[in-house]
Amino acid sequence: MRTPFIAGNWKMYKTVAEGVALAESLRAAFDGLTGMDLAVCTPATALMAVGQALAGSNIGVGAQNMYWENEGAFTGELSPLMVKELARYVILGHSERRQYFGETDETVNRKFKAALAHGIVPIVCIGESLEQNRGGETVPFVAAQIHGAFAGISAEEARKVVLAYEPIWAIGTGLTATPEAANTIIREAIRDVLTELYDAETAQAIRVQYGGSVKPENMAEFIVMPEIDGALVGGASLKEASFGAIVKNALAALGKA
Ligand code: PEP
Repeated sequence: MRTPFIAGNWKMYKTVAEGVALAESLRAAFDGLTGMDLAVCTPATALMAVGQALAGSNIGVGAQNMYWENEGAFTGELSPLMVKELARYVILGHSERRQYFGETDETVNRKFKAALAHGIVPIVCIGESLEQNRGGETVPFVAAQIHGAFAGISAEEARKVVLAYEPIWAIGTGLTATPEAANTIIREAIRDVLTELYDAETAQAIRVQYGGSVKPENMAEFIVMPEIDGALVGGASLKEASFGAIVKNALAALGKA
């Protein structure tokens, strides 16, 4: 059984004080929760303070990006050693990083290996554009992203990753894939490919979140899908009211409330 996992991606929002306030209200609402993992992926500037606000709670902290080298002349980057001090998770290959900052399957793979080498849990994002979706290219495209991300990674290491299937056209747009379509794509482009690359047991062990305009109103219909193990939530993770309602609705839909 895969433990459901809902993570917030705060993107480039929240000062340190705002992030701590949100973290404290999430802690008050969800400390002691069992049967579901929660995390907030904050801007780098807020990692330490939010980590302190959530210390000893069941809400993990994640970074939103990381470089693969341990140290060096890489101005503006964060190394795995730095991230590891402050975060349990790191988002890798988010579509905004791929679109605006030149991330490729190859750089995602290098970061993925670096995260594993340092015991950081990578949340690796994959997903197709609207054009690819309309052109019927979703499954081969996402399958190729999986091949690229997992190149040179053993089955044992692969089981430590969290994947986030995020159709690019659904991120921040208010549009969502239908739960049935997301479920089918996760099965055909992710689990079937992981079964080929590794084995069925490994493919079944890896958690796959859905991401793309998840809100309190639609969380339940995604989380009940057999292949969907939670959500990576952007915009709706910025307020306790909406993120809290997403978590509560997911718990209720899973009969854990
Ligand atoms: C995201 O940032 O990963 C995301 C899915 O954003 P949103 O929920 O705002 O679509």
